[in-house]
Amino acid sequence: MHRFTKIVCTIGPATSSRDAIKSLVKAGMDVVRLNFSHGTHEEHAARIKLIREVSKELATPVAIIQDLPGPKLRVGKLPNEPLRLEAGDRVTLSVSQQVGSAGVIPVHPEGFPRMVDVGSEVYLADGMIRLRVVGKNGPNVMCEVEVGGNLTTGKGVNVPHVKGEVGAVTEEDVEHIRFGLSSGVDYIALSFVRSAADLDTARRIVSEFGSDVPLIAKIEKAEAVDRLDDIVRRSDAVMVARGDLGVELGLENVPLIQKRIIRLSNAMGRPVITATQILLSMLTYTTPTRAEVSDIANAILDGTDALMLSEETAVGANYLEAVGVLDRVCRRVESELGYGSQGLSEAESVEDAVGMAACRVASAIRAEEIVAYTRSGSTARLIAKYRPHTEIVAFTPSESVARRLKLVWGVLPFKIDEVVGELQPEIVEQALRKFGFAKSGEKAVIVAGAPTGPVGSTNMIRVQLIH
Ligand code: PEP
Repeated sequence: MHRFTKIVCTIGPATSSRDAIKSLVKAGMDVVRLNFSHGTHEEHAARIKLIREVSKELATPVAIIQDLPGPKLRVGKLPNEPLRLEAGDRVTLSVSQQVGSAGVIPVHPEGFPRMVDVGSEVYLADGMIRLRVVGKNGPNVMCEVEVGGNLTTGKGVNVPHVKGEVGAVTEEDVEHIRFGLSSGVDYIALSFVRSAADLDTARRIVSEFGSDVPLIAKIEKAEAVDRLDDIVRRSDAVMVARGDLGVELGLENVPLIQKRIIRLSNAMGRPVITATQILLSMLTYTTPTRAEVSDIANAILDGTDALMLSEETAVGANYLEAVGVLDRVCRRVESELGYGSQGLSEAESVEDAVGMAACRVASAIRAEEIVAYTRSGSTARLIAKYRPHTEIVAFTPSESVARRLKLVWGVLPFKIDEVVGELQPEIVEQALRKFGFAKSGEKAVIVAGAPTGPVGSTNMIRVQLIH
């Protein structure tokens, strides 16, 4: 059995070599996340080139997510890293300095001083460090450190309960989008989405560049949680961004919000990624904590499509061990997941009904595979929505669709030649054999549009006995 839950790895300084990327793909990385809050376009371009080359060499599609910084407040360049902050220290957060200096931490964007008053709490590095504002002077905000820690360049700055001043797509993001689309990224993730209108804005920009790249809504603001239904509906995929969620809403709220986001995303058939601190202890140790393993298991039981590693693979030396742990825990937990483990939602359309029925048939006849022939990926996503206990093999004539499907729970995507007219049994059998499936006597459930024409016309289920 293949693994159903997908693994997303953030590629960073520790994993930017060809060997590291190759070993990650071999270890089970399905999707790469490039965090545009860090690194230059040149660095990301080099990574994208290597990822594409390795993916070709290993004949494995790998999706690339471009994660935009959004209007997130961040620490600018620190000359000496890490900067150690101790309780009681006085520091100035300044929006007028590009690079830090003694006692001064650069922060951007420049609206930051307007978001705080004397007495406000300011959190750094996903809430690890807490400051209290003691004074303001133009671009400078003077703070006292209440809880210390180590700070590095690019870390997030949070002022809880303050409503963002700018939309989720900043001018800087538009430049990143232009770069990402010209480099052929497979998904764009929007940080600090506050309403469905933010997704509409991003979609307009993306389509002005002539692209239909799918958009991932990162849920990390209280406003986004309040408008979850609308946001999930207007997104193509969703991320439970637990780092900022924890700071913005309080850590004790994260588990229940995670369950809500996943439940809603499952019901609407949107792939959902659970992110942040998945295996944080593995930055230091080669084995995870029991709590981390339980957290992974619970995210799978909640119904997540994918789990995302951040620092663990971007800067951690134990990146391969971390992917290995994820792979093992996923397989173990999945072995106990029954069919329809997420509670089957009602079919909303013909395509939905066909996807649901295919899973029921596959379960009833103990089929080895459910095979989807899909141009846009939608047939495969519809099947995944019903969480079958059967591998979903997606055949698509589009390389880009094959890559995008790497994010979707249970789907094993492969590019095949375009099928015109009816999907003949021989074509399916040949393709299954080519990619190492289908032994004689096995059964497969085939799902497609018949004839294989317009996108979104899933209307056919066929049971095929392999000869
Ligand atoms: C998060 O906050 O959990 C997250 C994934 O976002 P960022 O890109 O800020 O790490």
